[in-house]
Order: sequence, then C-alpha cells, then structure tokens
Amino acid sequence: MDYDVIVVGAGASGLVAAIAAARKKSRVLVIEQKDRAGRKIAATGNDKCNYTNLAQKPEYYRSDDNEFPMRVLSYFGVNDTIAFFEELGIVPKERDGYLYPYSEQASSVVQVLLMECERLKVSFIYNTRVTRIIKQSGRTGRFTVYTEAVSEPEAVSGRDKEASHVSGRVILAAGGCASPKLGSDGSGYKLAGSLGHSIIKPLPALVQLKSDEKYLKAVSGVRVIAHAALYSQGKLFAEERGEVVFTDYGISGIPIMQISRFAAKKLDDRKDVLLQLDFMPEASYEEITELLNTRLKRSRSKRLNQMMIGFLNNKLTAVIIKQARLNPEAECINLNHKDMEKLSCTIKQFGMRITGTNSFDNAQATAGGIPAHELDSKTLESKLVRGLYITGELIDVDGTCGGYNLQWAWSTGYLAGSAAGDRKQ
Ligand SMILES: Cc1cc2nc3c(=O)[nH]c(=O)nc-3n(C[C@H](O)[C@H](O)[C@H](O)COP(=O)(O)OP(=O)(O)OC[C@H]3O[C@@H](n4cnc5c(N)ncnc54)[C@H](O)[C@@H]3O)c2cc1C
Repeated sequence: MDYDVIVVGAGASGLVAAIAAARKKSRVLVIEQKDRAGRKIAATGNDKCNYTNLAQKPEYYRSDDNEFPMRVLSYFGVNDTIAFFEELGIVPKERDGYLYPYSEQASSVVQVLLMECERLKVSFIYNTRVTRIIKQSGRTGRFTVYTEAVSEPEAVSGRDKEASHVSGRVILAAGGCASPKLGSDGSGYKLAGSLGHSIIKPLPALVQLKSDEKYLKAVSGVRVIAHAALYSQGKLFAEERGEVVFTDYGISGIPIMQISRFAAKKLDDRKDVLLQLDFMPEASYEEITELLNTRLKRSRSKRLNQMMIGFLNNKLTAVIIKQARLNPEAECINLNHKDMEKLSCTIKQFGMRITGTNSFDNAQATAGGIPAHELDSKTLESKLVRGLYITGELIDVDGTCGGYNLQWAWSTGYLAGSAAGDRKQ
C-alpha cells in the first residue's frame, strides 16, 4: 500500500507525529523495530513519566544552536502539550512545576497515544527495522523505505525478511543512542546521514560520571547535598547544586546528570575535567573556618575524627581529613587555626578527577545529533531533502532533567506531523 506519511519509530515523537499527520487526513504508517510502541516512554520518570514542566527557559535545552529549541517551542509549547494530552485523557499532576499523569503510570501515556492512533486509523508494523530510505529524484519524488524483519531479542536478517514501502513524506523519529535496549540504537543517525545530513557526534547526556580516585571505595553510597562545579584547564564550564551520590566507579545524582553532557564534550575533545564539590554551599570559607574553630575549642579532649562527628557524614569526613593532609587521630589540643583553614578549604573545594562518563546504556539522553540549522524550526522539515522531517532526540538538542526531553519530543513530533500531514503531493 502507498502511504502519505511513513513514521520511522513508535517512540515519543513518532507517536505524536503520527497522530498530528493523521488528523490532517493523511494515510500514516508507523514502522517500529521493537515488539510494541513507546517502550521508552513507559520507562520514563521512574515509570511515572515526567511528561513536561511548567517552567520553560532557554537554559533547560542544550544545543550548538541555542536559539533553535525555544523557536520550536514557540510553535508548540508546554500549554499546547498539556491541552493535547488532556484531550487524550491525561489529567496532569503537578509537583514543583513537574507534570506527571495523575495515574502516576507512564503506561497511561502510551495507552492514550495508541488509542488516538487507532481512532485515526494509523497503521503499525512492529518487529521491523528501517534499513534504508531512498528518495526518488525530482522535487516531488516519493520515498522508498526499506525494512528488515527483526525477531526479539536478536535481529534476524535475511533477504526473504526484506520489504519496502512507498510514501510521499518520511518522518525520522528513531531516537538517539540513549538506553538502546529500549529501541533507540542510533540507527536513525545512519539513516539521516545516508540522506545527506551531517551529524554532531552523539555523546551520552544525563549520565553518571566516572573517576578513578582511590577514596571512592570508602565513600561509595554516601549521599550529600553539594554544589558541583566542573573545571577544565582551570576554567569553570558547568555547575549545579543538589544531592550527589558517590559510587564505587565515580559519582551520580541529579546535579551530576545535569552537567554530565558538558563533561562528555570536554572529555571527547581530550580535555582534562575536574569536578569540585562544595559540601557546605550555603556558608562561606570564613564561616566554616569559624565554625570549625569553635568546635575545636569545645573538643579539647577529643581527636580530630571525633570532633567532626555530627557535622559531615563520617565516611566523607575521613576522606576530607586525608585530602586536607591532616591526621584523623590527632589530638584537638594539638591542632590550630591553620589546620581548620585546611579542613574548611577541602570542605569547599573537594576535588575529583573525572575520567569518563558511563555509557549510553545508562544515559537518559543524547547530546549531539543532526545540526539544528539543517532543519526548519516551524516544521522540522529537512532543508536538504524535501519531504523528510526529523524529530526528537535525533536532533542536536538535549534537555535537562525535569520533563524537557519529552517536551522536545512532543513539540517536534507534533510540528513535523502537522506539516507532513498537510502537504498534498
Ligand atoms: C530511563 C529513562 C527515563 C527517562 N525519563 C524521562 C522523563 O521522565 N522525562 C523526560 O522528559 N524525558 C525522559 N527521558 C528521555 C525521553 O524518554 C527521550 O528523550 C524521548 O523518549 C525521545 O523521544 P524520541 O521520539 O526521539 O525517541 P524514542 O522515544 O527513543 O523512540 C524512538 C523509537 O524508534 C525506534 N527505532 C529506532 N531505530 C529504528 C529503526 N531503524 N527502524 C524502526 N524503528 C526504530 C525505537 O525502537 C524507538 O521505539 C528518559 C529516558 C530514559 C532512558
């Protein structure tokens, strides 16, 4: 059968794109390599799906083209998203601006999207991977989309498993490289590349950072509120505040995930990366020194490690004392103001050399992708291939934690679907 629109990928942006195109009366086919739609959506927000956020600012979206994300969102933004999902049945539950379905079930989001697709008679093919897309020549040339059958968990390739489908427009909604077990294995970049698009190297984003500091074993599992700042060649390049979690391989926690994409870029450029943690961001260096001096005076019969009990986490304290080059067993009576300054300095500037990020298997998003300037911000149509649209994580835009990556998927999916569905060819 001949279709008006073929959507590659039944993920967040693909499902919304299919709905938007079908609402324009287009015949739509969605091709998905997994056995069902929306596997990643169902895993989002700890299975609760943080589907958007009331606070929308440029700094929540990262891209080599800083203005592109907000331009796209001006055509389909957070209020459009809330209205779109309310119409489908999702009642929003708000926590500090973060929106979840009231059911607190990410699967509800997949279900309502699929019910709407069914109502609009969108066709689906599952367990089928798109391997090649060819555009016939001429301005109105149609697309031939080649596929290969896949059987879970391993791909079965064979000539008899191959097929092709023809359509007027193609929406590439195949996702990035993050969490490949949920479907997005990076094949979308190859498809876009074969059609002439350039690719900014995809790197893991919203991911944990790795380090080989010897002290990690001792503090693994410790959680602490800190200000986390990333430096390279002595220059600050990213910072965030919140609860960090030490692990045996490095460090995790929301603030670390938020700044990880900047570390990934520096490391990929073979630059040094130093993470500096401030364990008492609300107090100045002088205030902490004064606090420590007061404790010192009150602890004349104690040892240094005993003096610190009740201040910072004991495991962390042991490492801080060592980093400050002090003896934990030293009698407080033998310590002085200079020693407290050393401790204060380490509490405010605790260093961790970063050696890498965790892999895409652990990442929640992808930094890099198809450059924004190769796409029209109102329609997400390719400026290189007429009739080709690119959506979601495939584009060089990654959001911070808080519902921004899904908002990006809904916005780009809706705009691309509406434009592709509108076109009469
Ligand atoms: C664990 C986890 C939790 C997350 N939580 C949140 C959250 O709470 N809030 C938030 O905003 N974001 C969250 N994200 C990020 C968000 O889910 C993604 O950014 C978003 O789903 C990307 O949408 P997409 O349409 O670009 O791609 P995807 O949703 O990844 O969909 C791509 C689809 O394309 C299919 N596909 C790929 N290649 C092919 C091919 N060649 N042929 C056929 N099909 C193909 C894939 O199987 C997949 O189904 C989370 C991500 C992860 C991994």
